[in-house]
Amino acid sequence: MDTELAMKTLRHWINESENIVFFGGAGVSTESGIPDFRGTDGLYNQEYKYPPETIVSRNFYVNNLHEFYSFYRNKMLFPDAKPNAAHLELARLEKIGKLKAVITQNIDGLHQMAGSENVYEIHGSVHRNYCLRCHTCFDASYILSFDGPPSCSECGGLVKPDVVLYGESLDQDTINASIEAIEKCDILIVGGTSLTVYPANGFINYYKGDKLVLINKTPTEYDDIADLLIHDSIGKALTYGL
Ligand code: NAD
Repeated sequence: MDTELAMKTLRHWINESENIVFFGGAGVSTESGIPDFRGTDGLYNQEYKYPPETIVSRNFYVNNLHEFYSFYRNKMLFPDAKPNAAHLELARLEKIGKLKAVITQNIDGLHQMAGSENVYEIHGSVHRNYCLRCHTCFDASYILSFDGPPSCSECGGLVKPDVVLYGESLDQDTINASIEAIEKCDILIVGGTSLTVYPANGFINYYKGDKLVLINKTPTEYDDIADLLIHDSIGKALTYGL
């Protein structure tokens, strides 16, 4: 099926359904100016001493605090980023009762900024940062106000982003709610994710319906099982025909 026809079919399916779930990744936010990891302009294709997944790991965090926070501030915090067409359309679909949940691997908070309410952030959020000692919560601008590792204004403890690092476990309640939403939906739209990060990539296996839509600029290992496959921009695909 050509891309144009696939996008037309997607719009038709969306129009007919009242139980859609969206599962996305970093590709959803590239059109907001936030680089992904594995896309053409992603962090893997930029000059850096270590691969991003090495830096954003528990082990690296514990052993290289200064370098972690420097990377985190420079490459993962985008205080001026705004929701793009994809975020806005997903929020609109939720408002009119069609979309039941957004499950995201992203940590940028752009779905909520667009107006989505039922968002499962399986990898956490840069907008929540906790003191490891007294648990006081800080926003992202607090982290940006430091040069080195941020310390708590209340007790001096180290402030850590509420982001799931590689090697840390995901929140079980968030996983359960995400799986339940996927099991119950009619249409599962998966977009802007390379589907390489475990265990998030396994979520797709819980879908029981016959309308699995994959939207990604580049091929993924799951392309063969998609009922509708779109290799194009997520913003374009989700707003086609509006
Ligand atoms: P990934 O970088 O592995 O894959 C992103 C995919 O999106 C690529 O295959 C790319 O071809 C595709 N893509 C890029 N722009 C697109 C667009 N406009 N339309 C359609 N497809 C597009 O990302 P991932 O699978 O989410 O895994 C990376 C991990 O890194 C995740 O755990 C995520 O939490 C984290 N991460 C998050 C952000 C963010 O919060 N915005 C940014 C970078 C990385």
